[in-house]
Amino acid sequence: SLKNALFKIRHVIGLIKDSPDWFKKEIFESLNAHEELIQLLENAIHEDPPLTIKEGGIIRKGYNKELDELLDMTSSNKQWISELQKQEIKKTGISSLKIGFNRVFGYYIEVTKSNLSQIPDHYIRKQTLVNAERFITPDLKEKENLILSAEEKSKELEYRLFQQVCEKIMNHISSLLTNGRTISWLDVYNSMATTAVKNRYVRPNITKEGPIQIMQSRHPVVEQLLDEQFIPNDVYLDHEKQQIMLITGPNMAGKSTYIRQVALLVLMAQTGSFIPAEKADIKVVDRIFTRVGATDHIARGQSTFMVEMLESANILNNATSNSLVILDEIGRGTSTYDGLSIAWAVIKYLATEPVSQPLTLFATHYHELTELENLYPSVKNYNVAVLEENNQLVFLYTIKPGGTDHSYGIYAAQLAGIPSRVIHNARLILSSLEEKGKAESWEIAQREPSATPRNTRPKRMPLAPGLEHESYSSQKIISQLKSLDINNTTPLQALIQLARLQKSLYKNKKK
Ligand code: ATP
Repeated sequence: SLKNALFKIRHVIGLIKDSPDWFKKEIFESLNAHEELIQLLENAIHEDPPLTIKEGGIIRKGYNKELDELLDMTSSNKQWISELQKQEIKKTGISSLKIGFNRVFGYYIEVTKSNLSQIPDHYIRKQTLVNAERFITPDLKEKENLILSAEEKSKELEYRLFQQVCEKIMNHISSLLTNGRTISWLDVYNSMATTAVKNRYVRPNITKEGPIQIMQSRHPVVEQLLDEQFIPNDVYLDHEKQQIMLITGPNMAGKSTYIRQVALLVLMAQTGSFIPAEKADIKVVDRIFTRVGATDHIARGQSTFMVEMLESANILNNATSNSLVILDEIGRGTSTYDGLSIAWAVIKYLATEPVSQPLTLFATHYHELTELENLYPSVKNYNVAVLEENNQLVFLYTIKPGGTDHSYGIYAAQLAGIPSRVIHNARLILSSLEEKGKAESWEIAQREPSATPRNTRPKRMPLAPGLEHESYSSQKIISQLKSLDINNTTPLQALIQLARLQKSLYKNKKK
């Protein structure tokens, strides 16, 4: 394996010898193909050695004279034995006579019981089987001793020679380890470069001061997984004009994807990678703080909301003006007014606290927060565009300036397959809450759906036709099945795909 690795390093050295100076210094000069080791391994170690190191078969012929003599002796004696079988068959006329070997009795001549009358006198009986007898002769015993002692000696010698080879290699261990590290770096550069070329990434301009400005940014993972085209978006954050982007928009519109993609691209840029965008100026950040998703640690006494607050506390206590913060739906884990108040106060703190003021992306469903743009000049409202078309909501995934005033949450619930009676009732309650207040909504919620007036469907969230009985998850599964290219799918891939689809069905059932 080492020899094969060194062969490859020799090849890599050939490939990168004409690379730029910095690369030569960092990579090329620290690679060493160790030609002398290649030579040693070529000469000493058998092309296809066994897995055990004490049973011989490792050292190549021609490497050591003494070993060659021992091996020759063994093979010539083995040759003698196989010749002996032919001779004995001829002498005795027993065509089924054979010479065998086992670890207990050594070499023996085996004759079936029906031929025992034909054996010569000098055969010495050694073992009786059901159908045959086994014999030895003095000559056979002598050869056996020669073979076994030569084999034993050669195994010992091979082991010693193998150890000597290992010791010679050990003298180069530090350079060999450097090879390993250098190759891993080369792998990093190569992977980044390959990914960048394959996925049309660009080189970001990294600055110490200045904005984070990314034109036409894309999410590196989501864009690979989507069947449809990923819609790119711009981002601009700086300390003067736009320290906080407050992003509102319907459920499923792409808010979380957008804020996570910005954090990811900044991280990628700081690792030295190109990024999925058209152009980017990225200010170096000291840390990226994220508060996304909903998790709990019930075994450690932390509820979902407590985890949300612990993470938020960590951000507020530790973010500096050089940090990047992404906050997804702060406050949604508690009652509406509690959550809204916390979210409001957090934005105020991030916008005004003199020591911190980190660059921030804040996604929320609290439309009330869009008012903050008027209070704090560094807060700017953005929303994710959607279109209402033919009774359906079309997600455009485009981030544009300005706030939004509704979330289409019930529409998302309907897409997910919530029973239509529940959806219907929810619409009634919502429109009543919006128009008449809490008391009447409470009364409406108590009514049986069949008793509700027919014309109460709110104007702005129409039912999507055809979706009442078909949940969003099954639609996704159907589209995955349709996109399967059966002719280019192996049976194993098909099974894996089937298991994945089944798992997602179970998951949705549990929910
Ligand atoms: P919610 O408020 O319900 O949490 P959201 O607005 O945060 O929703 P995301 O979870 O970001 O929405 O996005 C929903 C889905 O939309 C993603 O899973 C992805 O498939 C798709 N999506 C998001 N952004 C884009 C984009 N720019 N282009 C194409 N598809 C996108």
